[in-house]
This record gives sequence, structure tokens and C-alpha cells, in this order.
Amino acid sequence: MTRSTGVVVIGGGQSGLAAGYHLRRLGIEHVIFDAQTAPGGAWQHTWDSLRLFSPAAYSSLPGRFMPAQEGEVYPDAAHVVSYLADYEKRYELPVQRGVWVSAVHRDGEHLRVETDSGDWRARAVISATGTWTRPFLPAVPGRRAFQGRQLHTVQYRSPDEFAGQRVIVVGGGNSAAQIAADLAPSTELTWVTQRPPRYLADGIDGRALFDSATARRQALDAGRADTGGVALLGEIVAVPPVRAARDAGLLHAKPMFTRLTPTGVEWADGSSAEADAVIWCTGFRPALAHFASLRLRGTRGHIATVGTRAVDEPRLHLLGYGDWTGPASATLIGVGRPARDAAREIADLLTS
Ligand code: FAD
Repeated sequence: MTRSTGVVVIGGGQSGLAAGYHLRRLGIEHVIFDAQTAPGGAWQHTWDSLRLFSPAAYSSLPGRFMPAQEGEVYPDAAHVVSYLADYEKRYELPVQRGVWVSAVHRDGEHLRVETDSGDWRARAVISATGTWTRPFLPAVPGRRAFQGRQLHTVQYRSPDEFAGQRVIVVGGGNSAAQIAADLAPSTELTWVTQRPPRYLADGIDGRALFDSATARRQALDAGRADTGGVALLGEIVAVPPVRAARDAGLLHAKPMFTRLTPTGVEWADGSSAEADAVIWCTGFRPALAHFASLRLRGTRGHIATVGTRAVDEPRLHLLGYGDWTGPASATLIGVGRPARDAAREIADLLTS
């Protein structure tokens, strides 16, 4: 039996919840499917010491401020998970957990959403499936030959299991910097980045990144020159553990190696380092496989959008993922606005 609703939201992390909040405000019937059995989206799976790069109040979804975490300016992931769990309860969002969406098809005036607990028919779909389930590893020669342990950011939990080991951390972003800082005191760390690491000035945090991303999108929308956005400010927020490790002289980045060997890595100048483990902090790709049958245009794994709406399928909106679905859309504070815009466009569609 195929059930019907106004809107299906795929994904019940922060982006799916922000969508639910605005759909509810507009009185639009909807259901939110989330593959995981507990609230919190990707925040349930981060490493133990992760810290947000903005204070709590600047990490809030629409309608409700994130409360401060006692004793911490930058909250940890467990604090975000309890905030999200409380958020969905407070707004009575219709989240169905443990439901995997495998495909979306066109079906006349509707979209048909296939799940592992049955099919649904909806007038519109919002996809908010994030990137965490699609870790990206670059193609580097010798990756299969290396006999030590290789893991991605998603599998890293704490330095305990690497104590005393020779560990190579690859990547120049916030994940890499935080994991390198975590490992530096207790391991023989080599940190490898494609470009020299670019720290934001101390005291500048995610708030400035958000402002910068918003200013860039406004400039582009108004046809003005590209401000360069976040990229001009730097990439790494010096949250307290990163700052402490950097100031203690524990964080020295080396350029990217050219290949892995069975026992370590080798650079272009012939120098090498032995390693027990390589941790790839090399990013993610959007989880969009469920749209394969819609054959939507896009580049670099993205789907072409105007705002949040898919260019080739006006009943489909994309939320979260990255700046291509709205300025800072893949952040807690940034997703509220595109979620509101998507809900408003869907309201117009449903009444047209
Ligand atoms: P997710 O949290 O990944 O949620 C998507 C949900 O959809 C998941 O529950 C998943 O299981 C589910 N799903 C996926 N596919 C399907 C499917 N086919 N069917 C059903 N369910 C599905 N942001 C900030 O605002 N501040 C920060 O300080 C910050 N720090 C970060 C640090 C790191 C290291 C990282 C990686 C990110 C950070 N972010 C931060 C970015 C951002 O907030 C997170 O990436 C966020 O989790 C994205 O939320 P989301 O809801 O879009 O996706």
C-alpha cells in the first residue's frame, strides 16, 4: 500500500529538523524519515573531543536557542545531540526513525518515495541527507599497498587507541586540525596538508564564517563581485584544544606526500616516514544516491539548484550539504534560512 502526505523530508539531522520546523509553522502535512535509530544525525558519530567552532547561541536552529554548555564556550557533540533531541520533541516533529529511503521517482503530479518500510506519495520532497555517510578518500598511489591501518574522519574516536604509534593525519581543514591536536601529545604525529594550514585569527570563530558566507551569497545574488567569502578568512578555527597544541609547538604541517608505501609514506624529494596508521580527514560528498532515477543535472556530485530547488525537478528541494544549497546551509545556524525558503516555495507549489 502506498501512503500519501504533503511533503516527505529525507534525513532527520539538523537540516531535516529545520525543514520540519518551517513546514509545521506553515501547517504543511509532512513526514521525516531518518535512517538512524536515535536523534542527532551526524553528531552522534563524531570523535570524543570535537568542539563546535561557534558558541552555543550561534549554533541554534530556528525558534530555539541552543543553551550554553556548562563550563564550555564551544559545546561538544553530545551537547548538540541532546539539543537536537529536545528540539524535535519540543516541536513535535513527525520523525520516523530507522527508515531508509532508497529511491525517489516521478509519479504524475506526485513524487513516489521508496523506503524500506513501504512507499509514500508526496507533492514535494526535501532531501536533507547530509554528507557524513559518504566519506571521501583521494586517489593517492600506493593506498592499497600500505599495510598499516587506514581510517577516515568518520571512524576516528579518540587518541587512546593510537598511543605511542606513528600516525599520519591528512587534511588541512577543521577536522584534521582538531584530530591532529588530539593526537599530538600521545603519538608520533605527522600532519600533512596540501597547502600550509591557514588559521583564522584567534578569537575569530564560526560567527565570522557565517557572516562571510552570507555576504558572499548576497554579493553574487546581486550581481556584484565575488567577495571570496570564507576562503579569504582562513580555514581553521583555533578552538581552544587546537590553539593549545599549536602554541605548544605540536602542530607542524608537512606538504602532501606523493605515495604510500607498504610501511609509510614518501614525498616527492625522496624523503619518507614510517607509519602505523593514516587518518584521512579529506572530506565528504553529498549523499544523493536516492535520486539516481530522476536523472538530475549537476556537477561534482551536486544537483543543479536555484536556491534550494532542483533546477530539473521543481518539487524537490535540497537542504544542508554545503553552500551550494544556501549560505552556510551545512551549519546549525545557517540552515534555518534556506529551510524557511524551501518551506515557503513548497507552500506556494501546494496552493498553485
Ligand atoms: P546529517 O547530520 O548528516 O544528517 C543527515 C541524516 O540523514 C542522518 O541521520 C542520516 O542517517 C540520514 N540519512 C542519510 N541518507 C538517508 C536515506 N537515504 N534515508 C534516510 N535517512 C538518511 N556545523 C556547525 O554549525 N558548527 C560547527 O561547529 C560544526 N563543526 C563541524 C565539525 C565537523 C568535524 C564536521 C564534519 C561538521 C561540522 N559542522 C558544524 C557542520 C554540520 O553542522 C554537520 O555536518 C551537520 O551534521 C549537517 O547536518 P545535516 O542534517 O545536513 O546532515
